[in-house]
Amino acid sequence: MIIADSMLGKLSRYLRMIGYDVRYVESDKDDSYIISISENNLLLTRDRQLHERVDNSILVGSFRSIEQLDEIRGRLPHPEHGFMELCSICGQTLSKVNSKEGLPDYVNKSATEIFYCSMCNKYYWNGSHTENFRKMMERIGLEIHN
Ligand SMILES: [Zn+2]
Repeated sequence: MIIADSMLGKLSRYLRMIGYDVRYVESDKDDSYIISISENNLLLTRDRQLHERVDNSILVGSFRSIEQLDEIRGRLPHPEHGFMELCSICGQTLSKVNSKEGLPDYVNKSATEIFYCSMCNKYYWNGSHTENFRKMMERIGLEIHN
């Protein structure tokens, strides 16, 4: 599990897309809470003081999520899941949609694979956008399963 502070929302979503269990901490939580949940987990933070108080933490310097990925790659553990197995918003495991009937209009029904998050009531599908994302991650040098 990776803990990400409230400055790293977009980075959290990217990491979930490539298979990491990420717990995003809302900005109303204080440092002692973050430190307590960071035990046995890797903390990603933009806060230097917090970084200095947590041994297993990475201080993220950049404001841009792509540059942040570049900063932390090589220091991350192996992802727990494969590409597009987790909902990027809540982190729950996605289920595969077997029937294309009754799907909302925004879903691309010609996609080869469609996935669903029952927590967020949101659909995901494979297509050029996910392929581009995967290629971008591989260019950065992040390990992706499946
Ligand atoms: Zn979700």
